[in-house]
Amino acid sequence: MKTVENTEFNNAETWIRDRIKPEQITKYLNNGKCFIDSEKIEVALRSNTNSDKTRVMEILQKSLAIETLTPDETACLLNVEDAELLAQMEQTAAKVKRKVYDNRIVTFAPLYVSNLCVNDCLYCGFRKSNKTAKRKRLNFDEIKRETEVLVGQIGHKRLIVVFGEDSQTDVDYIAETIQAISEVKVKTKKGFSQIRRSNVNAAPMSIEELKILHEVGIGTFQVFQETYHRKTYEKVHPQNTLKGDYLWRLYAMHRAMEAGCDDVGIGALFGLYDWKFEVMALLNHAVELEAKFGIGPHTISFPRLEPADNTPFTQNLKYAVGDRDFRKLVTVIRLAVPYTGMILTARENAEMRREILPLGCTQTDASSKIGIGSYANIADSQQGNKQQFILGDIRSLDTVVRELAQSGYITSFCTAGYRCGRTGEKIMNLLRCGKEGQFCKLNAVITFREWLDDFASPETIAIGEKIIAKEIQEIKERMPSVYPQLMNFYEQTRAGQRDIFF
Ligand code: SAM
Ligand code: SF4
Repeated sequence: MKTVENTEFNNAETWIRDRIKPEQITKYLNNGKCFIDSEKIEVALRSNTNSDKTRVMEILQKSLAIETLTPDETACLLNVEDAELLAQMEQTAAKVKRKVYDNRIVTFAPLYVSNLCVNDCLYCGFRKSNKTAKRKRLNFDEIKRETEVLVGQIGHKRLIVVFGEDSQTDVDYIAETIQAISEVKVKTKKGFSQIRRSNVNAAPMSIEELKILHEVGIGTFQVFQETYHRKTYEKVHPQNTLKGDYLWRLYAMHRAMEAGCDDVGIGALFGLYDWKFEVMALLNHAVELEAKFGIGPHTISFPRLEPADNTPFTQNLKYAVGDRDFRKLVTVIRLAVPYTGMILTARENAEMRREILPLGCTQTDASSKIGIGSYANIADSQQGNKQQFILGDIRSLDTVVRELAQSGYITSFCTAGYRCGRTGEKIMNLLRCGKEGQFCKLNAVITFREWLDDFASPETIAIGEKIIAKEIQEIKERMPSVYPQLMNFYEQTRAGQRDIFF
């Protein structure tokens, strides 16, 4: 008998069956082989154990010149154990970050819109076999309510919108979600607030689907490989699921580039396999994208596995990454791929974030909630069983911005780059030669002014004013030709005009 459930099931089955397009994998292989060669990575790690000072210092000079390191150089840094050299590496990582991104930190919030998922990743609270997870997919009104809180009460301008993989959250739903978010505009104390950049973290897609996302105007397209070690990948992602296909995921960014989404975010989930292997593989991924498309990853993420509700896999991890190793892996990623953005998330607790951020991170989230509908308290969204994992830092954006300012960082709410066509290859070249920094410095001042006037607490305003004054003085001295225009935009912003940028 044909029932509604049967029909839905069959539709979902057809959707799953047609998702992976083998020809959109094989076309990128080199003589039938993928760009991750585990044997080569292991050999590089084994044969670069002589990390003497002269060699390490030479490698650090290369990072400072904003050149991508080779696998051998990266392996050499990963194998450094000498405390003095490690300190040198950390100082250089901080310098590299400053050279490319100055003292700016970009903030964003995650927006989880659905936890429906056909996959069964052993480590994730959303996996389909987790029967205690309460399932929810937000409708477009609910998405707008969530966005209203994010833009109207907190003041975010940039989101990472996160999806499970399911026929009910297919590419059309994702595109409509991005559209719904962009339509929300909230009046603020002195002007108005709106999300200006929606990055997307979702399952790998076909070139045709990615073209739809490009059309709707997403920011960065983010897919983490989770682990680049194929055997481990196949163990933690059951082979009868979509996500079980290692190569479909590995080439997600190749398809994105081909579809025109040239801001791509890669990452590994640390704790699944040996962290040194994963760093080497992330470097290989960056090098492969540079070689094939002339553009490396816009961002690299390095989440550590966190405990998740009813998810025993996350306990007693064989490859759990301790804090000391975490520090080192962040430092080496910064040095190995010097131009890339690096995202530190609220998975880490406040203390760890204070320690890791200065090693070269460029973006961080705040006021984060990862339950479905949590920002606007939709239904019983605060319950743990609608969360993917448990967050380590739930401090408000105001607190995080204030702490950053106290440490000399300016929070940038700038989203101008991709709206002015400064993406992909263009932004890579600007980043490498330090020019993108000039636009960003100016836009950071203007967007920080907006946010201070609309959302900051009196304590944050007090410290924020000092940072702004210092930035303006630097611009006056270093870029006298644009200074008058900056002050013109600045005064307009003070008067309540919004979204002015260079
Ligand atoms: N469903 C899509 C996918 O798997 O690519 C995207 C969304 S998934 C919700 C986003 C990311 O969360 C995953 O790529 C994974 O790296 C991370 N994640 C999953 N479980 C986690 C856990 N227990 N702790 C920390 N991060 C986790
Ligand atoms: Fe689904 Fe993504 Fe969670 Fe895997 S990590 S179960 S694909 S939401």
